[in-house]
Amino acid sequence: MKKVDCIFIGGGLMGLASALFMARDGKKVLVLDKDCTGKHASGVNAGGVRSLKRDIAELPYIHGALAMWHNMEKIVGSDCGFYQTGYLIAAEDDQAMRELEQRAAQTRELGYDNEMLIGRDRLRELAPIVREHCVGGIMSVKDGHASPAETCRAFHAALVGAGGVVHNHCEVVGIDPGENGFCVHTTSQGKLYAEQVVNCAGAWAGKLAHMIGDTLPVEPVGASVLVTARMPRLLHPFVAVQGRKLWFNQARNGTLLICGGYLADVDMEKGLTRMNFHELQACAKVAYDLFAVTDDITIVRSWAGLDGETPDHFPIIGYSNKVPGLFHVCGFSKHGFALSPMVGQVVSALLQGKKPEVGIAGFEVERFDRVSDLVASNPIPHENCGNLSNYK
Ligand SMILES: Cc1cc2nc3c(=O)[nH]c(=O)nc-3n(C[C@H](O)[C@H](O)[C@H](O)COP(=O)(O)OP(=O)(O)OC[C@H]3O[C@@H](n4cnc5c(N)ncnc54)[C@H](O)[C@@H]3O)c2cc1C
Repeated sequence: MKKVDCIFIGGGLMGLASALFMARDGKKVLVLDKDCTGKHASGVNAGGVRSLKRDIAELPYIHGALAMWHNMEKIVGSDCGFYQTGYLIAAEDDQAMRELEQRAAQTRELGYDNEMLIGRDRLRELAPIVREHCVGGIMSVKDGHASPAETCRAFHAALVGAGGVVHNHCEVVGIDPGENGFCVHTTSQGKLYAEQVVNCAGAWAGKLAHMIGDTLPVEPVGASVLVTARMPRLLHPFVAVQGRKLWFNQARNGTLLICGGYLADVDMEKGLTRMNFHELQACAKVAYDLFAVTDDITIVRSWAGLDGETPDHFPIIGYSNKVPGLFHVCGFSKHGFALSPMVGQVVSALLQGKKPEVGIAGFEVERFDRVSDLVASNPIPHENCGNLSNYK
């Protein structure tokens, strides 16, 4: 078999988008998925495209990505179901409002003007269902919602249209690095050869790295979403509350989606998630505390999916420091969907030795080498995450 320029292991959006932009530059690319493209996190997430209160380190990525989401029809021939909803975070008291004011000032200083403070009256207008005690909030109007399934289908089709090849039901079971690239062993396509290999295996990225003699601190994590019966239109933006773990939004069909990183149990032997009723109960309780409509709603279903998570909840993007030519794009820690088009562009540029539009400083795997003992023995608790300086 002829050697290709790059094999992407994992047909989620990180693999599909990176392969697409490389294929458009005339490179020969293969995407392999043990199941099928979009079967895991990329196809089953909550569809939130949020710049609001993103960690500072991710702002260049999300702003690049947002511009792409607003222009998706031109990029992949489909709007991917993206529509602008806005994202809003309400403050429950003056202290929370001060925190949001600080955040708005910080992003303004960095040159981003999208995070706007709103007062109590505007909050009531935009999200009348937020309970009375909330005093104001912060909003980013350009954020929105896209359909994960449509997005995966569109990127897959665009990739094939650009000359890329996708093999579904093709599990990578071994990788041999050699002097002239890699030999990749698969279940359905035998041996495949490539100049470079990209690990975009989502929840399986740590396992895949191990297969080739590398180590990555990426663990599988399950995240869940609650869905209500259809309701009359109650709100347009995604709504959250400062300091609470909750996102609440109303889909175009009227159902409310309630999520916020509530965990599901994970069975990696079967590659499955199972609902965790304690987590769902905690999620419903926070929704009840904060939204006035929750007395009247009926939860009709819930779903969960798997993602790869790093100890500091930031992705890993960059070349392996142990296996030359191996590139990692993983560990998106339950918030990678929104970033994926921009990540694809950056990864494609880096793999071709070009200068990307946005750098990867802070996302390289080396950050964990410096603190590997600390991470292993004392992972940073969730509430303190979101600050890369914790790892410097
Ligand atoms: C329930 C839920 C809700 C979420 N909501 C949001 C949201 O609202 N907004 C947001 O921005 N993000 C959200 N996310 C996170 C987002 O979906 C992920 O961060 C992102 O999709 C990760 O993409 P990926 O390509 O890295 O992984 P995946 O989409 O999981 O793709 C990895 C692929 O690798 C394949 N694979 C693994 N091992 C092998 C192997 N050995 N051989 C071949 N193939 C292999 C798998 O089959 C899989 O298809 C959510 C995640 C979940 C689970």
